[in-house]
Amino acid sequence: MTTAEKNIVLHVADVNKSFGGLRALTEVNLKVEEGKVHAIIGPNGAGKSTLLNVCIGRIRPDNGHVLFNGQVLDEHEPHEINQLGVSRVFQTPEIFADLTLLDNVMIPAFAKRDGAFKFNAVRAVAAEKSVRDEAEYVLQDVGLYERRFDLAGALSRGDKRRLELGMCLIQKPKLLLLDEPTAGMARHDTNMTIDLLKRIKSRGMTKVIIEHDMHVVFSLADKISVLAQGKIIAEGLPDEVRGSPKVKEAYLGEAHQ
Ligand code: ADP
Ligand code: MG
Repeated sequence: MTTAEKNIVLHVADVNKSFGGLRALTEVNLKVEEGKVHAIIGPNGAGKSTLLNVCIGRIRPDNGHVLFNGQVLDEHEPHEINQLGVSRVFQTPEIFADLTLLDNVMIPAFAKRDGAFKFNAVRAVAAEKSVRDEAEYVLQDVGLYERRFDLAGALSRGDKRRLELGMCLIQKPKLLLLDEPTAGMARHDTNMTIDLLKRIKSRGMTKVIIEHDMHVVFSLADKISVLAQGKIIAEGLPDEVRGSPKVKEAYLGEAHQ
């Protein structure tokens, strides 16, 4: 449809999505530049998670397109999009509770390499030392190395989310999508996660972060898009967005619900 624009890693073009009579996304346009942290903020129910799911092929838009490095993803399955270099952390962690942390982090490495669904990858895990070494490195990165032989199900909510982030990092994605990575965390856990995200910020992978916590947004984002009732109502640098009357109104509306 369009020619690839330089430096635009993710391009959401005129996307609409309804669930029955409810319009979750209306004419959403978003361009995410290479190497940037692009935050998407907005009140509950604004359509943020729906937008993220559209980007990874879990939800198909009613119309409009998603392009990754200029490539239209309309026909791609989620695992194919993952293989192209898109990883994501969901709002509710998706981990293997009855496997160890080490196994959890190794599985996405196999899934990406073999294009297999994760459950096939489970079988491949045991043998590979190089993947194990990488998994150990990643667990150190996310602060969970000491617990690598624990079962993932035993982790606290905050640790589960960091484990899931590790499961993304081992795939060395070009684009990392994070849906409220600090949701439900106490301040200490939130701060640990922000520190981790700051550390990986310099690694050059492009990130889209959906976040409710303004403290997190303003400490990480290069650019912010504001979604309210399925529409992008404001976009710009953090300071521009912070001062926008429209944004204040959208959040005020939520406070009064
Ligand atoms: P946010 O992540 O910004 O809180 P969501 O994208 O989860 O918002 O939801 C946007 C709207 O779409 C909400 O009104 C929600 O109830 C609705 N919605 C989301 N997913 C579905 C679904 N699978 N079926 C029906 N309605 C949905
Ligand atoms: Mg959400």
